[in-house]
Amino acid sequence: MNNVKRKIIAGILAVVMVVTLVPMMAFAADEGNQTQPGTDAAQEEENKDPAATEPEQQAEQEETEPPVEKKKPKKKKRVVNKKKVKIMLDAGHAGRYNRGYFRRYYESQMNWSLTNYLKNELKKYGFTVGMTKKSLWQDMSVYRRGKKARGYHLFISIHSNWSGSKRADYPLAIVSSKHKKKLYKKAQPIGKKLANQIRATMRTRQKAQVWIKRQRDGRDWYGVIRGAAAVNVPAVILEHSFHSNPSKCKWLMKEANLKRMAAAEAKVLAKHYGMKRVK
Ligand SMILES: [Zn+2]
Repeated sequence: MNNVKRKIIAGILAVVMVVTLVPMMAFAADEGNQTQPGTDAAQEEENKDPAATEPEQQAEQEETEPPVEKKKPKKKKRVVNKKKVKIMLDAGHAGRYNRGYFRRYYESQMNWSLTNYLKNELKKYGFTVGMTKKSLWQDMSVYRRGKKARGYHLFISIHSNWSGSKRADYPLAIVSSKHKKKLYKKAQPIGKKLANQIRATMRTRQKAQVWIKRQRDGRDWYGVIRGAAAVNVPAVILEHSFHSNPSKCKWLMKEANLKRMAAAEAKVLAKHYGMKRVK
């Protein structure tokens, strides 16, 4: 009987040890996972998918099966946009053209810089992006640049504005005119959203404006818009406030600001076309 009792006690002890030790190990494993919140946060940040950051869902996953949680963000990374949206970007002017209030500023250089940043930002959302020119110095007629939009969904020409008044600072979108109603209907809302975004990012004093301008024959006044209209593509000329305004000229001279502007504009366009971030 004594032997049997000992065996039973030994058995109970073994069970007790298993019951206490295993959860402790599990707890340790949990802690191990929790020591790298940085990586998870970074992955979530890349995803930009609100569903993946739902705190409730995350808490549940951590309690039940922590290893699965690590795989999840990878899966979400492969966002595929069913739509293929193509945007043709045009950096206004060539070489060193249009000096600003500060003489180191050239509109052409700012346009070139911002257009390249915008191209990179748009690619993060899976847009197909074309450029009307290959270098800052490549000069081409405005009409021909507009026509380069053939086969694209949208044409955007990047600029900053000039006024005799130092106070003028309103962002401006000039969009395809009502001459071809379809193009106006597509370009107008995009121009308005982008101009409003410029106002928010640059904090302009004056409100954003949206214009159309036509020749006597009814076609668009601006060559790039007229060229894009000739190949049936909606177009927007975006004036990033005024380089005749001292504080705005200064703002436009900072590369970090242009990067921020490009990211904000890409976000607006992605939202408009329903594109999700892919990288
Ligand atoms: Zn210009």
